[in-house]
Amino acid sequence: MKISMVSEHASPLAALGGVDAGGQNVHVAALSSSLAKRGHNVTVYTRRDDPDLPARVHVAPGLTVIHADAGPARHIPKDGLLPYIGALADGIGADWAGNVPDLVHAHFWMSGLAAIQAARRASGADPVPVVQTFHALGSVKRKHQGPADTSPAARAWLEPWVGRTADWVIATCPDEVFELKALGISKSKISIAPCGVDLALFDGAAEPEPRPRTHRILSVGRLVPRKGVDLVIQALPLLARAGFDDVELLIVGGSGDALTLEDDPEARRLRMLAKELGVEDRVTLRGQVPRDAMPGIFHSADAVVCAPWYEPFGIVPLEAMACGVPVVAAAVGGLRETVVHQETGLHVPPHDPEAIADAVARLLADPALRARMGSAGTRRARSRYSWDRVAADTEKAYWSVLASGLSRHATEGLEPLEGTAL
Ligand code: UDP
Repeated sequence: MKISMVSEHASPLAALGGVDAGGQNVHVAALSSSLAKRGHNVTVYTRRDDPDLPARVHVAPGLTVIHADAGPARHIPKDGLLPYIGALADGIGADWAGNVPDLVHAHFWMSGLAAIQAARRASGADPVPVVQTFHALGSVKRKHQGPADTSPAARAWLEPWVGRTADWVIATCPDEVFELKALGISKSKISIAPCGVDLALFDGAAEPEPRPRTHRILSVGRLVPRKGVDLVIQALPLLARAGFDDVELLIVGGSGDALTLEDDPEARRLRMLAKELGVEDRVTLRGQVPRDAMPGIFHSADAVVCAPWYEPFGIVPLEAMACGVPVVAAAVGGLRETVVHQETGLHVPPHDPEAIADAVARLLADPALRARMGSAGTRRARSRYSWDRVAADTEKAYWSVLASGLSRHATEGLEPLEGTAL
């Protein structure tokens, strides 16, 4: 198949861990290269956010990344990108001229807008089907973040419109299917393909980096409040009370674009909290770490703690599991599916530092339990979450769309970018 991927803000080539870079970058990069390895021809369209980026990058046989001009060639937070989505659709359409793909797969709601627009314009006798993966949903974000949600107001109606208009929607976990149905998206065109983990990178082979204290617990992710790193800091004094006072919390994750950790408000807030609780000597903020360094870091930890308020999927627990490290995870979103309670880790209620401390204490007290859960995690990651398997599930969805000959978006509904205050 000739496949176009659209990932407006998350370039597969981008460094990971910044405020707007994370799981989606990893997902688009790994899925695209696995599909290319399976013999497909994949082109990823992403917005040019640096004037020096080449227009076209041949990444591997069958895999090309195109930097489309859409708005200023500098980093713009994703919540400010809607005005430039029409230009992104133009760029995709121009590249397709005379050579349309078999289908287009959009990642995130705004990419869906651009994909539908480009597909409608390009469609002649054979409409280009649109497949959509949301990665995160505005309805869920609003529920958890309330007024702190900085998404454009139009997301509230454009996102469900994208879901209802796309020919197929791929959810990453059962929780997401429930949310998609609540948006009025028909279950008959939803399938599940989870995120995967790079099993070649995250394996048992990496040398653990040395750690300064008896125990180390690890938090990995973008430094944004909804990842709940503050809850893990709050668990440290509780752990000390339970007899575990020589525990380091290592926090790995990037600050905002062009910000050093010193300038980053979230990093400052976390440091301040650690100081207030008297645990600043046991909290290390490492900042953004390149991907290749991650396995050695995972291997150095007794447990990985993921305490988000909500999580559409969460690749970090899979990486920990693949490395054989047990995971303490808030029982939300995709983490309810990836982490099996009592088997590959322990679930805790969201927003609950005491439950985090209890779960971590249980793991620190019992090396045999850690080893058992670690091995079960590795088995689960290897058997269910290889990118090749995810690509095969995704490919199945593509074949269903192509076989059904559906392409509702070509004929139905309003123009996606009309009526939007651009
Ligand atoms: N990551 C990284 N370096 C960092 C922080 C994070 O390579 O300093 C990677 C991490 O290993 C994972 C991804 O970024 O692969 C984060 O994905 P996840 O789905 O857990 O969270 P998201 O950022 O999408 O909310």
